[in-house]
Amino acid sequence: MTKVELSHVSKEYNQVEVLRDISLKIGDSELLVLVGPSGCGKSTLLRSIAGFETLSGGDIWINGVLVNETPPNQRGVAMVFQNYALYPHMSVTDNIGFGLRNLGTPKDEVKKRVHQVAEVLQIKSLLNRKPNEISGGQRQRVAIGRAIVKNPQVFLFDEPLSNLDASLRSQMRIEIAKVHQLFPSPIIYVTHDQVEAMTLADRIAVLNLGIVEQIGSPMELYHRPKNLFVAGFLGSPAMNFIPGELIDSSVVLAQIRVFNKCLLSARVNATSLSPGAPVTIGIRPENVRINDLSGQLTGKISLIERLGNRVLIYINLNSKDHLIVEPQLETPFLDALKIGDSIFADLPAEVLYLFDKNGMALPRVAHRSTRSA
Ligand code: ADP
Repeated sequence: MTKVELSHVSKEYNQVEVLRDISLKIGDSELLVLVGPSGCGKSTLLRSIAGFETLSGGDIWINGVLVNETPPNQRGVAMVFQNYALYPHMSVTDNIGFGLRNLGTPKDEVKKRVHQVAEVLQIKSLLNRKPNEISGGQRQRVAIGRAIVKNPQVFLFDEPLSNLDASLRSQMRIEIAKVHQLFPSPIIYVTHDQVEAMTLADRIAVLNLGIVEQIGSPMELYHRPKNLFVAGFLGSPAMNFIPGELIDSSVVLAQIRVFNKCLLSARVNATSLSPGAPVTIGIRPENVRINDLSGQLTGKISLIERLGNRVLIYINLNSKDHLIVEPQLETPFLDALKIGDSIFADLPAEVLYLFDKNGMALPRVAHRSTRSA
């Protein structure tokens, strides 16, 4: 069931459009992540859903009710911010129960619900402390508790983990996923961190310059990006891009020339383009095959990052273009590689993406075994 619906939402500040014609539906217990670079409109969209911004156009529905004119405290939403904004003079108990008390909830009921939430978030032992007597991670838990206790129709999270250090962030990610299982109200979660987006989301909406570039499951967006922006945004390290020229295409295979000399094939249907059309080839770091003796492309290693469970090799193909490669750890010559070495790379046809001059992905062709049954 749809819990939140945005229909043609737009927002202008001083005649500058920061949200453009956004339509989205968020399901009953769905965790939707809004991700995109800084300034793309994520917070403005979240604040519009919360009721802190007036729309320039379009409608927002929560639980089937049009809320364009509804004040924030009557929308049934609870928001968790990056800066937890706890009241410093109040205990954890009072911070969590503050919203409920304001609504006139009886004292005993407030106490019961605060204790239930504290139990789930494992902060029972902190209930009598003040915010300055607990750690950053614990403060964020209190902020989440303050949202949960109100039993909202929808949770809105605005970069809730960006003030925390890396290890605490990954721990809190797990906590948020657990909380979501226990309180399955929909969550709309804003982050600029694509790892957070990939690990938490049921679906991700990728925003860029106020528009939704693509919306889908994390794997769908990773494997079938609609355009260069989405392809480049999701994945760490990012997808490699190389400029090329289309030489020829059938419905199942495209031939592309790169660097004016080397011919590559891609299992892509590029028949919508004419030979000679400029294209961009995309390949994920884990799909490049390196070789020490021969290959389609050659370059010099500029950096090697040995990270234990993965190795990243940066290869300069020329003065402008480079490849980042994540080779299989079993690659026999891997340990001996060093900066400055020449190396060869193969870009298999099955794993290449191809984008037209407007950055739109051309349809990839599923690779089928030629053996008949
Ligand atoms: P994000 O959360 O993706 O970083 P924001 O939603 O905060 O982006 O901002 C989107 C754009 O709107 C930015 O260009 C920002 O400068 C602009 N903006 C945000 N709030 C205001 C405001 N109150 N007045 C004018 N411009 C604003």
